[in-house]
Amino acid sequence: MRAQKRKPRLAVWKFASCDGCQLSLLDCEDELLTVAGAVDIAYFQEATRGRIAGRYDLSLVEGSITTPHDAERIQDVRRRSHTLVTIGACATAGGIQALRNFADVAEYASIVYARPDYIDTLATSTAIADHVAVDFELRGCPISKHQLLEVVSAYLAGRRPVVPPHSVCVECKLRGNVCVMVAHGTPCLGPVTHAGCGAICPAYDRGCYGCYGPMETPNAASLSGRLGALGMDPGALTRVYRTFNANAPGFRAESERQKT
Ligand code: SF4
Ligand code: SF4
Repeated sequence: MRAQKRKPRLAVWKFASCDGCQLSLLDCEDELLTVAGAVDIAYFQEATRGRIAGRYDLSLVEGSITTPHDAERIQDVRRRSHTLVTIGACATAGGIQALRNFADVAEYASIVYARPDYIDTLATSTAIADHVAVDFELRGCPISKHQLLEVVSAYLAGRRPVVPPHSVCVECKLRGNVCVMVAHGTPCLGPVTHAGCGAICPAYDRGCYGCYGPMETPNAASLSGRLGALGMDPGALTRVYRTFNANAPGFRAESERQKT
């Protein structure tokens, strides 16, 4: 009798994060049983206490590196993972907690904590790719469950995920949204923001605030000129690029240019 082929092992890891991206996997209500049937969920503490030790075929990593312990732990995750995919703004850009990268973390800790000497933290919050090799980065805060399913099924089929690198503007055109910036003068980061959300915010007449991070080759300097003409001063422009993806190179460089 032929031996049954082992199912691929999936692991989901958490670093500094809010768990929202992991919850996107649990949010795949209609598809979750199919996913669970195609893989062995070997490590996923948000969903189960069960744990299969050893090596993992596909690791999904949420969160950024903010402590010396996590800087070591991610090396272990990498060693035990055949394919490592980072999910969300925290894991791909350092997340909102990367605002510390523009400040003095010791001063922050002294203001926030009664006993800052108990806090063992790094001075920066950084993306997983700054520490180990990453096979694919999935953006968003939180990620799109449709894109997550595409990544998991692409892995199972042995192909690259189809995740377009174009801007939210293209998604607006595909959806038939009226451009909020042209029609209403509403500041919008859509022209420099990575697609994936389906242009939700402009569909409800508000500007994009960049939660999917910079698209491939963003021209943020050009957009800043337009946003300045709509009334945003350099302080406001600095802040608009410093949210969930403040440490992503495309947004960080423009925020620093505005700051000077
Ligand atoms: S990217 Fe956003 S939703 Fe995902 S873990 Fe970080 S803060 Fe939460
Ligand atoms: S439109 Fe922009 S801010 Fe709104 S969900 Fe999409 S990427 Fe995020």
